[in-house]
Amino acid sequence: MLHVNLSAVAENYRLLKSKLGSTQCGAAVKADAYGLGMTAVAPALVAEGCRAFFVATIDEGIELRNRLPSEEIAIIVFGGILAGTEDTFVEHRLTPVANDPGQIDLWRTHCHRLGQSLDAMLHVDTGMNRLGLSPSDLDRVAAAPEVFEGPNWTHVISHLACADEPQNPANEAQLARFEQAKARLPEMKGSFANSGGVFLGPRYHFDLARPGIALYGGNPTGSAANPMRQTVRVLGRILQVRDVTPGMTVGYGGTHEVTRPGRVATVAAGYADGYLRSGSGTAHVYLGQTRLPVIGRISMDVITVDVTSVPPEDTRPGKFMELLGDQVTPDDAGDAAGTISYEFLTSLGRRYHRIYAPPSKTA
Ligand SMILES: *Cc1c(COP(=O)(O)O)cnc(C)c1O
Repeated sequence: MLHVNLSAVAENYRLLKSKLGSTQCGAAVKADAYGLGMTAVAPALVAEGCRAFFVATIDEGIELRNRLPSEEIAIIVFGGILAGTEDTFVEHRLTPVANDPGQIDLWRTHCHRLGQSLDAMLHVDTGMNRLGLSPSDLDRVAAAPEVFEGPNWTHVISHLACADEPQNPANEAQLARFEQAKARLPEMKGSFANSGGVFLGPRYHFDLARPGIALYGGNPTGSAANPMRQTVRVLGRILQVRDVTPGMTVGYGGTHEVTRPGRVATVAAGYADGYLRSGSGTAHVYLGQTRLPVIGRISMDVITVDVTSVPPEDTRPGKFMELLGDQVTPDDAGDAAGTISYEFLTSLGRRYHRIYAPPSKTA
């Protein structure tokens, strides 16, 4: 069972907004809003005043546009324009991000053909070396401003590689490069900060922020206390409880050897639900306030939990354990599985019974 607390998402949005002052706060809702469910999360953010949503792919953009038809809402596609998709962008009123000179040209040509000045954003790389114009691309296009004629270039954007490490000097270096790029593109507003960037201070904010993970409860500050509220609670039902004695093993491969008499509960959630198998031997769950170790290998549909320390009446089949929530945050669960909150959340499977509270309204 997967509970998504949309009020907590809204509260996280308000906290980010309060950090941002006059900077507009958008939202990254790619990958189905990091696994929470984009079509439920986005309307909750619209209700808080969010008007700019970032997705990765054109299909995500179309799905979101169907949910949020309002003209006032911008849906921006990080992946940019592929030749042949221009009409789809126009039909669904999606804003492309141009990541290279070829994408600039495709959008410009399309705007000329339609005789319309359609919105677009320009991505410049400032050190991540992933997406965006390289410094030499930028030199070329900035020297020939006619390259931009036609579209309405609302923002120049760039992305921080180390924003969750406030002390990392790469942040200042990227900021300096972004400021230089902006100075050469004076017509465009700026968008630079992801979740971590919001917490690096006002110099990183520019005109429009694009937080993702912080909205969903991930810690955007690196090692400081997490200021965000938890938004996701995953509960797993106890299916069976058995007594075990020394010499027995538990689960596939017999990796867990029982060393003292005890009890093991089998709980309904496994790696097919996104409960990552790499957490075998390190993950923990909660029964009420009691922290319990997951033992043996995590399998496809179930995990096994050592419940020796809790009274048998608390572990009857049908009771629920917390696999993710206030006591096991996505950061904790990610750590245990040798990964990050982002991967843990985006892996949450389709098999859970999902409950959105308060129920998502139609925007
Ligand atoms: C995913 C993404 C974001 C959001 O990042 P968070 O770390 O989740 O806040 C912002 N900008 C770009 C370009 C992204 O790809």
